[in-house]
Amino acid sequence: MVKPGNDQIRIFANAGPDMRLYACEEALFDGSASSGNGLRYCWDFDESDSTQNDAFGKTAAHIYRRSGGYVARLTVLDEERNVSADSCFAEVLTPPSRGLTLLDRFPKGYMGQVHQSGNRFTCHLIESAAWYGRLDNCAGKEITLEIFGFGKHVPPPPSITTAAGDRTFSKGFRAVWTDSYVDGDWRVLENAEYRYDADRESMEIAFTPTRDPFYIAWSIIYTPQHLQRYLGRIYLMDCVRMERIGNSVEERPIFRVTIGSPDFLQKKEAWPERPAVWLVAQQHGYEMGGGAVCEGIMDFLLSDDPVAERARKELVWHIVPMVNPDAASHPWFRYNAHGIDLNRNWDLSDNGSGHDADVPEPEVRAVKEAISAGVNGGRSIIAAFDIHNYPASVTGIELLIPPGPHMQTQLSQHLLRQFDASKYPHAVAKANSARDPGMFCNWLLSACPGACAFTLEVALGGFGPPRNPRKYPAIPENLRSVGEFLARAIVTAQQSAGGATR
Ligand SMILES: [Zn+2]
Repeated sequence: MVKPGNDQIRIFANAGPDMRLYACEEALFDGSASSGNGLRYCWDFDESDSTQNDAFGKTAAHIYRRSGGYVARLTVLDEERNVSADSCFAEVLTPPSRGLTLLDRFPKGYMGQVHQSGNRFTCHLIESAAWYGRLDNCAGKEITLEIFGFGKHVPPPPSITTAAGDRTFSKGFRAVWTDSYVDGDWRVLENAEYRYDADRESMEIAFTPTRDPFYIAWSIIYTPQHLQRYLGRIYLMDCVRMERIGNSVEERPIFRVTIGSPDFLQKKEAWPERPAVWLVAQQHGYEMGGGAVCEGIMDFLLSDDPVAERARKELVWHIVPMVNPDAASHPWFRYNAHGIDLNRNWDLSDNGSGHDADVPEPEVRAVKEAISAGVNGGRSIIAAFDIHNYPASVTGIELLIPPGPHMQTQLSQHLLRQFDASKYPHAVAKANSARDPGMFCNWLLSACPGACAFTLEVALGGFGPPRNPRKYPAIPENLRSVGEFLARAIVTAQQSAGGATR
């Protein structure tokens, strides 16, 4: 099970498969697929109510009395006090006898204050505009959701949840849906009637679900469970090295995936010798499309495509797919658990954003240390990308260019050529007027001279050519293709730049 490339791992927890059951049924947990010597097993049946040990033993049973979705965490310890943790997801459905319900009690779920009248739900979003709920016992029923969201006339509350100007609704807005929390494929909700009321800043959606349960949201959802599921598929590959580089405020792991040629990855001390590309995503809570973009980048880099093979041989790729896992678990719109905008926290001398902290946040510190350490003070970094999403009221893809001498590098010049309309008609490259030193790109440019840095914004309203700007909705398959395009563009630009300087 354990490969040489991951020799730091001595024990490995396995919490067993995800499960789906009705409230008040018995959930059976099985950690016997864990590996290690003399293991002790501790179970926490609901990680959202703070970490605790609810049961001990290789197997455990628990009854969830309320419908929702629960992350159950297994921690195993061996005789040498090595620790490993894994989680599984328990999808707890409303029993059929209870009829139609709308729930948001699961990671990232939020429907605000809900009033139900028959098949009609009125939802007032109070804390976040990132709405996400689940209908149970709904298939074949005509459902109406009336959602009152944040708008420009509604000031956000002084909380950690949202940011002014981030709106989810516009005239062309389309919701997305899926039929399973972790395994489901997000699709656009077609065959629905959308009525947008600009004055009341509300959206009425009338539709008839064909599946049960039916998850519906303003944008695709990408939580730590989704990331862990993906990482579980790739972490044993010989061209992958995976590390936990730190913890969030609420102690969720922050992962860094390193991709390169297998022989090279064995010798960590050699990493600074090879040009490095850094990609970070999901600094902001609602910008979950970044998770799918990163999957596209990694899928491509791990593929048999000749460009990908070259990418692994000539470069080393560091990807942090989820910088802010707490905000990807809660309904928060943007900030971390301290209420700090992480993408204004990279330089503490900044006073422009109004979101400053006195100390670097643990999420930012983890990524900063990973970039600074092990890569020779950052001198081997040639390029860095910070992946974000504009809200669903916007369409398009933008490569934002922070000001600075990095624009004179061969690599920048060639990269921008890849974002030319003739190469990728959905994207535009443009100068970023924000000179805020608290932003990742600006910090990176000052910390790693010679590197170039860009912010990639993919709008959750979808993207496409000017005449059809919503041709490609922001669903995972389209977002993954953006990731592939970005990775290809970097490799092509690096090749051209290398050729030009020789
Ligand atoms: Zn952002």
